Amino acid sequence: MAKDKPAKAKGVPNKHLHSRSTFLYQAATYLTLRAGAPDPNQALDSAKSSGAPQSRHGLALQLVSDLQNVSRKGQVRLSSELKRTICKTCNTVLMPGRTATQTIENESKGGKKSWADVLVMKCMRCGSKKRFPVGAKRQKKKSERQPPQAQTSLSEKSAEDPTSTVSPMQTSTDQASTPG
Ligand SMILES: [Zn+2]
Repeated sequence: MAKDKPAKAKGVPNKHLHSRSTFLYQAATYLTLRAGAPDPNQALDSAKSSGAPQSRHGLALQLVSDLQNVSRKGQVRLSSELKRTICKTCNTVLMPGRTATQTIENESKGGKKSWADVLVMKCMRCGSKKRFPVGAKRQKKKSERQPPQAQTSLSEKSAEDPTSTVSPMQTSTDQASTPG
């Protein structure tokens, strides 16, 4: 009678793609960190790994490019937080103080408008900039916004209309009959 339906018990779709993209991002972040930091092993065998930081950075770039390919081919959307930390031009993982600089710009008159604050992330490798508004409140999605007032008044009218337009003749006769 009761059939087992394994298809119903579905978890995260494309879980393997998510785990793969997460791994790629973490590995790229780690390698970027290591590439920037002074290598303790480098002092021991400096001759061997003289070009290590550069190759690490190259590998990190490759991983980020793989991450984007996984996202593109598997149609897995990367989170906006993740995308904000990746340079679109050169695929560097942006880390403030290491591979990127963070500054706040305010182009309003005299910087008076606090909601005009813009966070500018500049990639140290290629110099490209990302700009995020931070002072302004984010506008709601279209579906979450309240419908315009004209529409609500229209719907109210249409709700009232049936009662008033049921029989205009009758109301006029009623009015006529009441005084008399
Ligand atoms: Zn860059």
